[in-house]
Amino acid sequence: MNSDDPLLLRGFQEGYRWEGVNRMPYKEDTTAPFRAISRQVLFAEEKLGCELRYFEMAPDGHSTLERHEHMHAVMILRGHGRCLLGEEVRTVRPFDLVTIPSWTWHQFRADASETMGFLCMVNADRDKPQLPSEADLAELRAIPVVARFLSDDPVTATGGG
Ligand code: MN
Repeated sequence: MNSDDPLLLRGFQEGYRWEGVNRMPYKEDTTAPFRAISRQVLFAEEKLGCELRYFEMAPDGHSTLERHEHMHAVMILRGHGRCLLGEEVRTVRPFDLVTIPSWTWHQFRADASETMGFLCMVNADRDKPQLPSEADLAELRAIPVVARFLSDDPVTATGGG
């Protein structure tokens, strides 16, 4: 075994942390709007071809509204919230599985009273997320349920933890 070999077992720790895993900002790109969300990369071995990340949002936190060619496979791990999936808004709870197809607008929002965390699997080799243009936003807001989902957050362009 050399120092590049992965640790074969990394223990689960208090507070939804894992041994040897750093808790990072959600995104390096702070121009993308998000709030109170962190990222831990749990698996990123080159030979896997995919990565498994754990994202956690503080109460009322949310991920970026975005779309991209790559897919997400998500499992809610803790807490309750809602997610935008294209033109639909769904409530989510622990252990729900969420598939996000290519080019589908998506965003996760934690309920106001609860921390929400989810696992997200992605291809290691993936395209950059696209943010909505003003025209895209207008189209999304034309769908009443989506408009309500988006207007729950008066803050539209701040970075966050
Ligand atoms: Mn995404």
